[in-house]
Amino acid sequence: MHLERRILITGGAGFIGSFLCERLLESGANVLCADNFFTGTRTNVAHLLNHPRFELMRHDVCFPLYVEVDEIYNMACPASPIHYQFDPVQTTKTSVHGAINMLGLAKRVKAKILQASTSEVYGDPAVHPQPEEYWGNVNPIGPRSCYDEGKRCAETLFFDYHRQHNLRIKVARIFNTYGPRMHPNDGRVVSNFIVQALRGEDITLYGDGQQTRSFCYVDDLVRGLMALMDSPDSVTGPINIGNPGEFTIRQLAEEVIALTGSKSKLVFMPLPQDDPKQRKPNIEKAQEILGWEPRIQLRDGLTKTIAYFDNLLSDRMAAE
Ligand code: NAD
Ligand code: UDP
Repeated sequence: MHLERRILITGGAGFIGSFLCERLLESGANVLCADNFFTGTRTNVAHLLNHPRFELMRHDVCFPLYVEVDEIYNMACPASPIHYQFDPVQTTKTSVHGAINMLGLAKRVKAKILQASTSEVYGDPAVHPQPEEYWGNVNPIGPRSCYDEGKRCAETLFFDYHRQHNLRIKVARIFNTYGPRMHPNDGRVVSNFIVQALRGEDITLYGDGQQTRSFCYVDDLVRGLMALMDSPDSVTGPINIGNPGEFTIRQLAEEVIALTGSKSKLVFMPLPQDDPKQRKPNIEKAQEILGWEPRIQLRDGLTKTIAYFDNLLSDRMAAE
């Protein structure tokens, strides 16, 4: 007999996963974090290692896992374009074999399972903002396809397990998320710009910087994922979780420069292939069904994130 919920978080040592581990422990759950440390680190969860309800295991989701749990958050997958394009075959395997293995586990132990899907399933969207009904505009054979199509196939598997095996599923389409514990070298725009600004290096704008993104602070995102997991079984998603505030990448750069007081200059570099021109979630479903919406404005979230990187870089300099 167990009184507390037992929750498996794959990719739990990553940026979003580590916050999820923290919040779920605070909610009283037992948390099992499984990660192969491809982009995540033990450091991200070091402060949880002595917690009596926390367990960390090295595991690659491409292989089956046999554990007794009540809920699974399937977060395992590199999220930064640099990292997911480093070994694209492994990226597809992580999404597809990972989904098959975790769905198989959920089926065996009758667990509820949530998939960390992505706004990338909409590709370079021709519909703006993106509602869940939009089927997307995805290149199946480009450099981003390993991630986009892997995540799309994972969604297919989730819905087939739901229809075929009555699994309780939850599919969250996560839009660009930022905050402390992003890897300083992971290449994503928020961490790149903050690190560049703090070091006084050039800020690298890809293309003309007029492409847009909508940035969600990690605390808001994690609250949204937990609300989805705790929603009635009839709520499967897919459901967009993101902040609808839309900014050009140039505006983001200017905001980071203003908040850091940096003397960095903007430099323009080639736009990567298939880089989406615009992205903004329609979050009406999350508002109506989950009663969720983001609370943290970009400026406030950036201020917290800058403080984190400032400490990190100062500690590193002190250690050198
Ligand atoms: P992250 O790279 O920090 O975390 C991913 C974690 O998964 C890492 O700890 C990594 O080591 C682990 N991992 C990778 N492959 C694995 C494997 N085969 N087996 C076990 N663990 C593995 O990225 P993140 O930003 O925290 O993203 C978490 C999830 O959210 C990912 O699934 C990502 O696709 C999704 N997502 C994130 C964003 C975002 O903006 N951060 C947007 C959309 C979707
Ligand atoms: N980007 C940029 N400079 C950088 C890193 C990224 O201009 O140093 C741009 C990138 O081309 C894209 C946007 O910022 O248009 C968001 O990139 P990121 O890799 O963070 O996420 P994604 O493209 O997956 O949304």
